[in-house]
Amino acid sequence: MNWTILMGALVFLMLVPVLATSVMGQVTNSQPACVPATGGLQTLAARLDHVWGTRTALLVCDGTRVKFEAKPGTVYFVPDQARDLRFDNLGILYIVAHEWRHQVQFQRMGMANAFSFSQQKELQADCLAGYFIGAVTPYAPDTERRLMATAAAIGDDRILHNARLAGPFGNLVDQFTPSPHGNAQSRADVIQIGHRDGRQRDIVSCAVVTPNLR
Ligand SMILES: [Zn+2]
Repeated sequence: MNWTILMGALVFLMLVPVLATSVMGQVTNSQPACVPATGGLQTLAARLDHVWGTRTALLVCDGTRVKFEAKPGTVYFVPDQARDLRFDNLGILYIVAHEWRHQVQFQRMGMANAFSFSQQKELQADCLAGYFIGAVTPYAPDTERRLMATAAAIGDDRILHNARLAGPFGNLVDQFTPSPHGNAQSRADVIQIGHRDGRQRDIVSCAVVTPNLR
């Protein structure tokens, strides 16, 4: 064996632990994309499950890897997205409660397609989110107005409009079909109806399962 090969082999052998350490280091340093909700969010999740008779995990996720959505048995909450939408605590309560409605549709109503968009299901989700907030949160005179403003801000037409204003290739946005969550007016209207029902705790325009409010 000549020296060049021997030295090459030695250098390689010395590098192995370094490479192994850096790979291991990456593995141990990387955070999971989602972690279980804690604190107030976990309390909210437990309350939503209690009210709607569902069993659902609420995960808090890194927005670069996971988007805000719901799948059977799990709701993924992305704080980055909530910040981008300028949601305050009430807005966060609203979108989490909205996603829970899809769990109700899936777990309680046997809707296998609860997680594919249709405008009727989405407006039902807004209505029930309003109901939950009206029924379980302490009364405040501006809650209804704030909820309606938040719902309107994420109406399909509003999001499309903002995307046009924001993008240098605004017209390209026209090529994308907006998700059929309902336009600003219908989202605001339906959350108002749900919220008023929740406040009265008796008339239930949008709930098709009996809420457990005790
Ligand atoms: Zn939805």
